[in-house]
Amino acid sequence: MNKVCHFCGNKHFKHITVQYTYRHDEKFFFVNDVPCEQCEYCGEQYFKAEVLKAIEAEFNAIHFHGKKIKKEIRVPIEPFLELLHV
Ligand SMILES: [Zn+2]
Repeated sequence: MNKVCHFCGNKHFKHITVQYTYRHDEKFFFVNDVPCEQCEYCGEQYFKAEVLKAIEAEFNAIHFHGKKIKKEIRVPIEPFLELLHV
């Protein structure tokens, strides 16, 4: 591999899998075990174009074409001011 991290210039990467969060407007899609290369120095993650395309295509299938999914989670959301209990 002869690539360089765009952020820190480091040339050493490791192959890992991560949970990827795809967001489009207020819709979210989490994908587990997504392969990527991570810069060993700054931690920046690099995904292959075909990986990102596959995730986007799946997101579109679910949100715009009604594809059934196996698992769905509920996510709480609050404005920060409500955390302060004034
Ligand atoms: Zn880096």
